[in-house]
Amino acid sequence: MQDLKILDPASSLHEARWWEPEPNNKVHCYLCPRHCHIGEGQAGFCFIRANQGGKLYSLGYAHPAALQVDPIEKKPLNHFLPGTRVFSMGTAGCNMGCFFCQNWSISKSRADQVGSSDIPPEDVVQLAIRYGCPSIAFTYNEPTIWGEYVIDICQAAKEYGIKTVMVSNGYVTREAFHDIYDHIDAANIDLKAFTENFYGRMTLTHLQPVLDTLQWLKNETKVWFEITNLIIPTLNDAPSETRALAEWVLEHLGPDVPLHFTAFHPDFKLQDKPGTPPETLHAARATALEVGLHYVYEGNIHSDGGHTFCPSCKTLLIRRSWHDVQQNRLKDGCCPNCGLAIPGRWTNTRADLEGSGRRKAAAFASERYEDLNL
Ligand code: SF4
Repeated sequence: MQDLKILDPASSLHEARWWEPEPNNKVHCYLCPRHCHIGEGQAGFCFIRANQGGKLYSLGYAHPAALQVDPIEKKPLNHFLPGTRVFSMGTAGCNMGCFFCQNWSISKSRADQVGSSDIPPEDVVQLAIRYGCPSIAFTYNEPTIWGEYVIDICQAAKEYGIKTVMVSNGYVTREAFHDIYDHIDAANIDLKAFTENFYGRMTLTHLQPVLDTLQWLKNETKVWFEITNLIIPTLNDAPSETRALAEWVLEHLGPDVPLHFTAFHPDFKLQDKPGTPPETLHAARATALEVGLHYVYEGNIHSDGGHTFCPSCKTLLIRRSWHDVQQNRLKDGCCPNCGLAIPGRWTNTRADLEGSGRRKAAAFASERYEDLNL
């Protein structure tokens, strides 16, 4: 557990969910499979859930450390409102310990080590409206660990027809899963490797809980979700591992869940590995297509592997360059050539349109965020 010097008695702390008291003023957090048992005055592994006076508090609540407007393709989501902007936010901390983290400046920091804003849930939605974003993404660090804030933002967003997106490592318990994901419209789940050895050594967690989350998403929710596998030379790039991963996705999730193979670049504690050669991503994509997956993408490189093709007649449906959508030929979510319905969330629903009327009517009076400059 982390020593805690961050609790300011004068600040208003938000009491956490998903915890139970233990003897001697300890608390048990069961939000993620780490199941931290946290002594008084300490925080859990993720830094931002802290025990004060025998109660667990969420230090990330209303305190985003990163705010940005991104293309939705950057999450990456290729079958969810393509070509739109997404209001993206993250806090400090993480429940995994990845040596290759590409957002380590916030994910490995305590709440008091990063500059954070003070933004209540309703204002996040208003900011998304101000910046013309039809969706909000919980991203950059692991949003599960600030699930209380995520849920309250989702509830506020629904009023205005704004969609919500989790970009997650999938490390969440059964007890908390539905509490969070029943509010979510789309997700990208990192499947960081397909061996317990990699998860144990490189992320300090376990593989099976992530596979469980993927199956819960498929079998028990309406969340649109895609999967990302960051390929790191010599650590998780064995062709046999890629094939096993693709076969597992086909068998347990079906052929229509998009799978993104993305390129690693040296970062954080993993500076001794080279960037992923494009040929590795091409080979991984070819393997997954051969296994039978319909939508397989390459990311973090320039290649034709970023386009969407019809799996039936091979017509090019969506042409992309990096995160830009250059051409979208879908007709009502279908291939314009053979008529095959392409799975995804392509257009706004009636409820969204009604929400958009409220968006137009919403006046954002606050001057508090003028300096955000997103
Ligand atoms: S969410 Fe944080 S405090 Fe709770 S079990 Fe996971 S790492 Fe520990």
